[in-house]
Amino acid sequence: MAAAVAGALVGLTAGMVSASVSMYGIIKEERAGSREEALKYREQAEQLAGEKEELEQELDKERAVQDNAGVLAEDPQAWSLVLVNEDHPLDGSYVPESLTDIGEGRQVDGRIAADLEQMMQDGAAAGMSMYVTSAYRSYDRQVEIFNTSVLDRMAQGMTPLEAYQDTSTQVALPGTSEHATGLAVDIISTHYDELDERQGDTSEQQWLMAHCWEYGFILRYPPDKADITGIIYEPWHYRYVGKEAAKEITEQGLTLEEYLGA
Ligand SMILES: [Zn+2]
Repeated sequence: MAAAVAGALVGLTAGMVSASVSMYGIIKEERAGSREEALKYREQAEQLAGEKEELEQELDKERAVQDNAGVLAEDPQAWSLVLVNEDHPLDGSYVPESLTDIGEGRQVDGRIAADLEQMMQDGAAAGMSMYVTSAYRSYDRQVEIFNTSVLDRMAQGMTPLEAYQDTSTQVALPGTSEHATGLAVDIISTHYDELDERQGDTSEQQWLMAHCWEYGFILRYPPDKADITGIIYEPWHYRYVGKEAAKEITEQGLTLEEYLGA
């Protein structure tokens, strides 16, 4: 039971991935030896073939993490276009270079703060009553949220696997939440505070959907695009991508994935 519980929790899952990756290293070393040695290990290698395929998928993910980390650290232009989703997880150690307070204990990447503030001010001037309910969320905080959810479900009688799977459908796996970039905000109407589809019918969301691109934001998870984004319609989640990209993405009706050709 204890081992199964550990497997369902995210921190230890990451440990299992790195153990798998080093196992892959050993397989590769064996293959680099003489032909004779290679033959000697063939049977063993065949047994491991299925596992190796899984490991390669994990390695692809590791590479995607490194790509993201590289983009964020090195390219001064690309930071606003970083792609974070299940196939492109963000490195757990990533912290935005400058977090700026936007009130109520919430923070965003400092580079988007002025545009966000302008959008909220112009919205208010147009009669909209809305506020940011969620902004930057650290990787560690996401691990906490995820694991708490798994443990809660187990306390309600689910097995560790059931609890993990059920949590995965409702809570982003650490590394796959855009909130860790500091570039995403959840904004809700004061007239309707539920995070569901009907949020999209409020005049506040209608205003944001029509105008957010002017401030460099996009509606990140539009309706009918879940097969591309991997996330259901979230009429409250706005992502900063810069004004030029936001204009193109909006005009062409694209998702960030489509825009980046990912
Ligand atoms: Zn969100």
